[in-house]
Amino acid sequence: MKMKGYAMLGIGSTGWIEKDAPKCGVLDAIVRPIAVSPCTSDVHTVWEGAIGDRHDMILGHEAVGEVVEVGSLVKTLRPGDKVIVPAITPDWGALESQAGYSVHSGGMLAGWKFSNFKDGVFGEYFHVNEADANLAILPEGIDPAAAVMLSDMVPTGFHGAELAQVEYGDTVCVIGIGPVGLMGVAACALKGAGRLIAVGSRQVCIDAAKGYGATDIVNYKNGGIVEQVMELTGGRGVDKVVIAGGDVDTFAQAVTMLKPGGRIGNVNYLGAGDYIKIPRVEWGCGMGHKNIAGGLMPGGRLRMEKLVSLMQYGRLDTSIMLTHRFNGFEHIEEALMLMKDKPRDLIKPVVMV
Ligand code: NDP
Ligand code: ZN
Repeated sequence: MKMKGYAMLGIGSTGWIEKDAPKCGVLDAIVRPIAVSPCTSDVHTVWEGAIGDRHDMILGHEAVGEVVEVGSLVKTLRPGDKVIVPAITPDWGALESQAGYSVHSGGMLAGWKFSNFKDGVFGEYFHVNEADANLAILPEGIDPAAAVMLSDMVPTGFHGAELAQVEYGDTVCVIGIGPVGLMGVAACALKGAGRLIAVGSRQVCIDAAKGYGATDIVNYKNGGIVEQVMELTGGRGVDKVVIAGGDVDTFAQAVTMLKPGGRIGNVNYLGAGDYIKIPRVEWGCGMGHKNIAGGLMPGGRLRMEKLVSLMQYGRLDTSIMLTHRFNGFEHIEEALMLMKDKPRDLIKPVVMV
């Protein structure tokens, strides 16, 4: 059977293609999208060639969908089930998974399959490996548009706070308040951060950051962020930094504003540049106990069930981020171009298929 999809044709080029619909393995599921959202990572992949060239690969890794077929060994899902589809779908039996790093199952970053090693979710159908372990049932009463944020924005932003090991009363700086950074702000607030400084420039994101718990805003276009954070903190700096925006030079700023013993959690996808420079003196000449961790978002059914419970019980409202809503599969292209161009009123587009 043939299906349509919106694809990366090569570096810098996208378009609609037709290809064979995916086939279901015994442990797998075939899903049709109900709601999808393009990601800044799709932009890095296509227009920066960040993971190398890909030809006629269907894009997209953020979706809520309906199961249309399951393999003979799938135990907990049936056709017709509505599911949350995480961007990262590991092979759970891999040695890396057994070591606790399922996102790297089969090789570094290889738990990221959609729109990387195989067709993504911007097709009429898509394939999900190990469906029992990778898909979670969408609870009744949760809006599928809001739930699409559970595919990537919520687990990634929350992972930033996890990597930075935010604790009660910490002063935290979240650099970047696009949708990922906003979920970083929400996660830091839930983990009990005291002062929560958010760095961005667009008003729509600043307003949302305050709504999610930011206590102070730093505009990186109004001068150096280190100077601004140091002034806000009376020269003391911050306990933790979550990086969800910027570029390879952002690490130097994060290291500089961090107190000794502090921790940086990076979830930003560095699309360009060969090296990250760590300033020697500000890093305590190598002895400052300023820890840097960076990670791809973990997926998995358990994590999805826990994250959706935050929405079910009123602790997290992702709908605030949905500034642009489209109805119809054909609007995927428009939504992706919005992500590429980042108009000032955009946080995140969603397409109801
Ligand atoms: P956005 O582009 O929407 O947000 C980026 C944010 O960074 C904006 O607030 C922007 O400010 C700010 N920013 C830009 N330049 C600078 C700078 N020089 N200094 C400080 N802040 C700056 O991106 P998303 O929120 O969608 O995604 C963030 C990153 O996370 C992307 O690189 C994405 O690919 C990555 N990602 C990583 C994943 C993972 O698993 N680790 C998964 C998903 C995404 P403003 O626009 O207000 O000017
Ligand atoms: Zn993404």
